[in-house]
Amino acid sequence: MSWLPISINCENKQCIIVGGGETAIRKYLLLREFGAKIHILAPELNEQLATHLKQDHFIYHQGTHQDLAKHYQGCLLIIAATDSQEANKAISDFANEHGILVNVVDNLELSSYITPAIIHRDPVTVAINTAGSSPILATTIREKIEKLLPMNLGSFASHLKIMRDKLTVNDLLPSLKRRFQKKLVDHFFANAECLSTKSKLKTFIEQDAALIEKHLTEKMGEVQLVGAGPGDPELITIKAMRALQTCDVILYDNLVNPNILRYARRDAEQIYVGKKLGDRRWTQDKINHLLNEYAQQGKMTVRLKGGDPLIFGRANEESEFLMKHNIPFQVIPGITAALGCAASLKLSLTHRDFAHGCIFVSAYLADDAQSLNWPLLATSNKTLVFYMGATRMQCVCDNLMQHGLAETTAMAIVENGTLDEEKIYYGNINYFSKNAENLELKRPSLLIIGDVLKLFKGTPMEKNHGSKERLNSV
Ligand code: SAH
Repeated sequence: MSWLPISINCENKQCIIVGGGETAIRKYLLLREFGAKIHILAPELNEQLATHLKQDHFIYHQGTHQDLAKHYQGCLLIIAATDSQEANKAISDFANEHGILVNVVDNLELSSYITPAIIHRDPVTVAINTAGSSPILATTIREKIEKLLPMNLGSFASHLKIMRDKLTVNDLLPSLKRRFQKKLVDHFFANAECLSTKSKLKTFIEQDAALIEKHLTEKMGEVQLVGAGPGDPELITIKAMRALQTCDVILYDNLVNPNILRYARRDAEQIYVGKKLGDRRWTQDKINHLLNEYAQQGKMTVRLKGGDPLIFGRANEESEFLMKHNIPFQVIPGITAALGCAASLKLSLTHRDFAHGCIFVSAYLADDAQSLNWPLLATSNKTLVFYMGATRMQCVCDNLMQHGLAETTAMAIVENGTLDEEKIYYGNINYFSKNAENLELKRPSLLIIGDVLKLFKGTPMEKNHGSKERLNSV
């Protein structure tokens, strides 16, 4: 059985509870909280229900389930809360025959709807549904969520509703309206603790809204340069995830794992801007042009790059452009490939005895003998991480050896680091120089070189179903 969560408006709608005992009270209190017009059908009422009856909180029909036919006209739902299985079954049959929603307490088979565990901060309701698998699990989840939600969430939601109605009159772009509300909600969660009274909350919302509206009606969009991490979708930051969930447009690079785009807001426009090596369709100028165009339309754009945008990500070309055009932007860092791959190797890139530092180098420049400071790179006591090295591995190893780095210096190559297809190759620089052509490395691959790699123990094949390769030992 699978249960679609829906919310039903039951305010002033007739709802019948059959039964007058303990179970009926729980259901009665729930329906009352949501404003239903409650009818109770039972031969007798227990003491607590009788007290409520005196206060006119429901309409009482003395009788049994067999009298349902007299009372069901115009009824939204029926709850079977008797202690007789036979009666409950008859109530369920009756409701189904007449097309009325029915809940038989603690009996999934006989119910056409079930009530979830609920957190109710009117008008906000959070519902937890375990499809009847475990009510205890549902209430435990509810307790956990409850701790995350500010007490004044309900009042805030009511104020927000008024604010939304005002915005509808205002001619803000839909994307601006969304951003406006998002900002307001984020500010509320950041300040909720200090907004203990209704008047404080109201002042906060009004002041905040005025400021945000002023900022947004200037109609300039915003760009977020976001790091998508090395590949594993779980290795992106919470901030990056939030940006993806609230933006209007995503311009993403070739290195970004497509699964990360699943975090994006469903109707955000997603544009692949390639930048594969040698791919000339997407020049930097063209990307900058798009960033500008969307900003002028007031849109929120995420510029999503593999790893960290500030490490070999050409972020500066974009940030300079954005500054020049007065387009507001933020940078959200990501886990760079070096760190993701080091984690795969379970190795520290620095070490008290073997590596006093670590250098990130672009191997792309390795062919050009002048461009890299090989004498500096070839000194020991540090870890070298070469990005963009898949096709330049031999050149890197040869240059390091020629400039004095011992040929036995340990080296690992991580191909497709942190992804399911990850492969690790291990050896020394002399070995890799000799075997470069046999390896047929795939992109992206990272070369990590240095004495600290001597500590590599090989990794158990926990992640890749045996595909990790260990080529050679030092
Ligand atoms: N901004 C990115 C780097 C972009 S340069 C970052 O911070 O990681 C592209 C190079 O990064 C690739 O050629 C490769 O050397 C490296 N790289 C990126 N993702 C990788 C991965 N999952 N595994 C191995 N290397 C990776």
